[in-house]
Amino acid sequence: MPDSISILDRLIALTRELMHIPSTESRPEERARCFDVCRNFLQAVPGVSIREYDSNGFASLVAGPAGLEVPGILLVGHLDVIEHPDVTVYRSTIRDGRLWGPGSGDMKGQCAIMIELFCDLHRRFPGISLGIALTSDEERGGEDGVGYLFEKLGIRCGLAMVPDGGSINRITVEEKGILQIRLRVIGHEGHAAAPWLGPNALKTLALCIARLTQHFDSLQDATSPDHWYPTCVPTICSTPNRTVNCIPGEAEAIVDIRFPYPNTIESMLDVVREIAGPEVIIEPVNTAATTRLSPDPLYLQITEQLTGAPAKLVRASGGSDALFIAQYGIPVVLSSPVVGNLHREDEWMDLASMELYHRICERFLIEKLVVA
Ligand SMILES: [Zn+2]
Repeated sequence: MPDSISILDRLIALTRELMHIPSTESRPEERARCFDVCRNFLQAVPGVSIREYDSNGFASLVAGPAGLEVPGILLVGHLDVIEHPDVTVYRSTIRDGRLWGPGSGDMKGQCAIMIELFCDLHRRFPGISLGIALTSDEERGGEDGVGYLFEKLGIRCGLAMVPDGGSINRITVEEKGILQIRLRVIGHEGHAAAPWLGPNALKTLALCIARLTQHFDSLQDATSPDHWYPTCVPTICSTPNRTVNCIPGEAEAIVDIRFPYPNTIESMLDVVREIAGPEVIIEPVNTAATTRLSPDPLYLQITEQLTGAPAKLVRASGGSDALFIAQYGIPVVLSSPVVGNLHREDEWMDLASMELYHRICERFLIEKLVVA
């Protein structure tokens, strides 16, 4: 490894190589190309074994010291990025100390850091109890990625690092649960001049959405700076009707509900059922339990030492792959370099914090796995 190339240059090069591949849900062959790039790095390290899996067309790769089932620490990342309609946006630029472009902050930059750390530490400390798991379906929920690895294959680790949330000094300790529900109403088709003839499915649905949003709006707490209360957002509403003077016979909508502990998927469903009433059919589409994470005290200490600022424990309204891991009582460190504009074409990662995050993780992994 030529020492003349700085670590940051290497991280940027690998990140940009991954960013230029549009590894979205609709492009399995591009996702496979991302795995090719990563595999090439991991394969070159002596004493490391690589296992690859597939769940419903979504690949995962797990690497670790040969012969070790449960690594002390597992680095976890996803190689998929969200879909932008214009495929030419999957490029990258460096400007104002930032790396710009889709996937820089979510999370190809972090994947590059983890691959670099994994390869470097395995070369310096052969047999180190460090694993890496790369998946490709986080942006669509993670069931066929980290969910598959932990729930179906029974993969375990002493501690997981998931650099897909929080920030450099902000370590996420709690995530809201997710309940996305389809609401369906069946009424009677009819002429709009005779509304008395039948229940209008769209009207029943609209009133239901109004009652739901009113209820959740009443839970808002202006004194909670991190919005730590349940929320409900209608995201889709449709009927098969295309005729302006026809009463729709059917209507459906999706609402996206986010809720903090101690609410549960079941308790939130009960609330929705009660408010929706018997005319509305309720079908959960996606669910995720609330997550409570326990970051390692040593990680917090190293973060404070290297950043020169206190490490804050924060709560996050969005979910991550951490939930699939934390449900087994495995401690998860959920932090990240400084990133912004996630899921936008002008997504970015701050380069100074990229290098700093690499240093924090490197020191943590060595103190945890080598010195101890
Ligand atoms: Zn992500």
